[in-house]
Amino acid sequence: MSAQKQKELQVAALENGTAIDHIPPSQLFKVASLLGLEKMDNTITIGNNFHSKKMGCKGVIKIAGKFFEEDEINRIALIAPNVILNIIRDYEVVEKKTVTLPDELIGLVKCNNPKCITNNEPMLSRFDVEDRASGAIRCRYCERKINKEDIVIK
Ligand SMILES: [Zn+2]
Repeated sequence: MSAQKQKELQVAALENGTAIDHIPPSQLFKVASLLGLEKMDNTITIGNNFHSKKMGCKGVIKIAGKFFEEDEINRIALIAPNVILNIIRDYEVVEKKTVTLPDELIGLVKCNNPKCITNNEPMLSRFDVEDRASGAIRCRYCERKINKEDIVIK
């Protein structure tokens, strides 16, 4: 069996669902929480510190019978960019998606300016992704820039 095939089998040991791969180990449980896994009834496998050629160590989450919507997945990109989503149907990876930050984040992040209108009116926050590499975002209402490490998810 080729190493590639073996690797695919390891990821694909799921009849139908989503395997989220290449999660930085330090972010694994944050990703699980962002996706609301604790509220799901699906069969979920969480593994951490798997050996990865690309990144040394990685975490993997497999969720049976679950296919995510774009906005659910955007949440992950905020804390773990570049994770790979494997969409599995009938034990085969039918699609691989790389998670990347969208151009704008609507209703996801809390503005850290207490005077910002989004913290004082019942409305959705809106942020533009200013620097994709660093993960810095900017509030469209008060123009406060928030660095990746200071992002608070609603
Ligand atoms: Zn703001």
